[in-house]
Amino acid sequence: MRNEVACDNAAARRSAAPEAPLREVLARYWGYEDFLPLQREAMASVLAGRDSLVVLPTGGGKSLCFQAPALLMDGTAVVVSPLISLMKDQVDALAANGVPAGCLHSAQAPEEHHEVVARARRGELKLLYAAPERLVMPSFLEFLAAARVAFFAIDEAHCISHWGHDFRPEYRALRLLKERFPRAGVHAYTATATPRVRDDIVSELALRDPSVLVGTFDRPNLLYRVRPRERGAARFAQLEEALARHRGRSGIVYCITRKEVESVCAALAKRGFRVRPYHAGLDDDVRHRNQDAFSNDEIDIIVATVAFGMGIDKPDVRFVIHTGLPKSLECYQQESGRAGRDGLEAECTVFYGGGDYATWLLILGDGDGESARTQRRKLADMYAYATGVACRHRLLSEYFGQTLAGDDCGACDACLGEIVLMEDALVTGQKILCCVVRLQERFGAQYTAAVLTGAREAKIAANGHDRLSTHGLLKEHEEKQVRLWIDQLVSQGCLEKDEEWGTLKVTPLGWRVIRGQAAPRLIAPPAAAAPKAKRAAAALRSWDGVDRELFESLRALRLSLAKARDIPPYMVFGDATLRELARLKPETPEDFLAIHGIGERKNAEYGAIFRAHLTAWRAERRPAENPPA
Ligand code: ADP
Ligand code: ZN
Repeated sequence: MRNEVACDNAAARRSAAPEAPLREVLARYWGYEDFLPLQREAMASVLAGRDSLVVLPTGGGKSLCFQAPALLMDGTAVVVSPLISLMKDQVDALAANGVPAGCLHSAQAPEEHHEVVARARRGELKLLYAAPERLVMPSFLEFLAAARVAFFAIDEAHCISHWGHDFRPEYRALRLLKERFPRAGVHAYTATATPRVRDDIVSELALRDPSVLVGTFDRPNLLYRVRPRERGAARFAQLEEALARHRGRSGIVYCITRKEVESVCAALAKRGFRVRPYHAGLDDDVRHRNQDAFSNDEIDIIVATVAFGMGIDKPDVRFVIHTGLPKSLECYQQESGRAGRDGLEAECTVFYGGGDYATWLLILGDGDGESARTQRRKLADMYAYATGVACRHRLLSEYFGQTLAGDDCGACDACLGEIVLMEDALVTGQKILCCVVRLQERFGAQYTAAVLTGAREAKIAANGHDRLSTHGLLKEHEEKQVRLWIDQLVSQGCLEKDEEWGTLKVTPLGWRVIRGQAAPRLIAPPAAAAPKAKRAAAALRSWDGVDRELFESLRALRLSLAKARDIPPYMVFGDATLRELARLKPETPEDFLAIHGIGERKNAEYGAIFRAHLTAWRAERRPAENPPA
């Protein structure tokens, strides 16, 4: 990791100087009292005019890294963003905080376009957003040459890399910026963590001696859970149980296929959830309408394929549920990362089934090239995460090359004691491994599970496997349970699955288990598992002292204000702000302004309304609190 800012003295001096004005900007426009990790360093690079690459997880506060310094610099910061919806959202959010910003895009009415150009010409805009295609148009380059460009910020910079998960060829042309504007800083921002993508960004943008800042990938406010998926109708009941914990809150349910989206969506609607679907097979306007309904809190849940992605920066998503195995841990980090951007607790659950692996192999195709092999390896890593029994936060951090301090994250099913391990895992593991040996390592998981549970299928009889000593060794268990154990043995390296045929083979570690020299860890069957669950630490903390009833009434007030202004509710105030209001119940304007997330502009716009609401609230409660003697 090249954290060059930290080891370069001159840069360190430069970065110390602008701290006070930056803090002032943060408080005045955003109502924030401090920097998030690496924001200070990232902002210092911008102010110092030193190119930079900033890698922060979703919710890490990347946009502020360029927005805040833009307010302290002469000229206009030009922000490259891949999606119109992303641009519009950011510009609206900036406007709500009193920051002059505009965007230029192809779906804009000509008058609006002219107005933005005119404001930019007059030097009125601190930030100007545009798509990469526009940025390399000769007319636009001329316009920029005449304008005063403070610096360039490239959002979602991984789009420039083939190795990223979202390659966009139009990003490649951005290399031209360093040629045409050699004196303007170019700053790249992404949440994609792999070193290869990072190197690609630096070289493709031709960044000069950039400061590379890489944040911590762990998201402590996310509670991770993984559960084997129930079959048939039971899987909807299982899903409903997970959703019931978040009634009335925003969340995303991801499915692998469009068909699954439709069926899950219908099942949830029937059970009274406010849901809409989202996938690439729907008309553009239906998709947009559904996405808007989600942003505006008209519905709670969006059921979607991964097509529902990058444009989503709703900060108060309280849960992300996968009804099937994600494609890779990179994808999972991105998708689950859409939960809890506001830093408040959120839950990320994966329901997986053994069949998901095969479904993905079908979707990925059986190409033999390097990228096909890489994809299959990533899928295997994902599967190992799902079937694993160790701390999920740790697994994810380690996957991204980082370590996690402490033993107990307090926010995953493993650390919360929800995964109950079998006591006789060694014996069960040995039975399974011996059966694989007896089958001469020529059969897959399903067949092996069938033999172990004593199935009398024609194929088994024809092969004479009903006469094996291992036939029916685990007949007291269901076949699907035995399949899960086989998966767990694969993920722990006791068994190896042939990539092409799926046949199982005992590894050297597996042989040590057979000889009793090592023991696997197997998850107990559901009946035996009476979870001694501890309460999730993070979830408790952020509700400390919050008057829930008041919180709900503030939420209703927020919704009505947002509706009247035709903006998403989170642009009025985020959940963190509402909770703090419901905790501290500020009485004076000064106390109100001191609340997290309330800057001068929002104070002017909403302060009086919210304070009146709080006053009315107190008045209503007073008689109850002080009953007449
Ligand atoms: P990213 O683009 O990295 O996913 P965002 O820029 O959308 O992250 O920021 C995530 C959330 O964190 C937003 O709600 C944002 O307003 C908030 N945030 C950003 N910087 C700060 C800060 N210094 N203090 C508190 N909240 C912040
Ligand atoms: Zn954990």
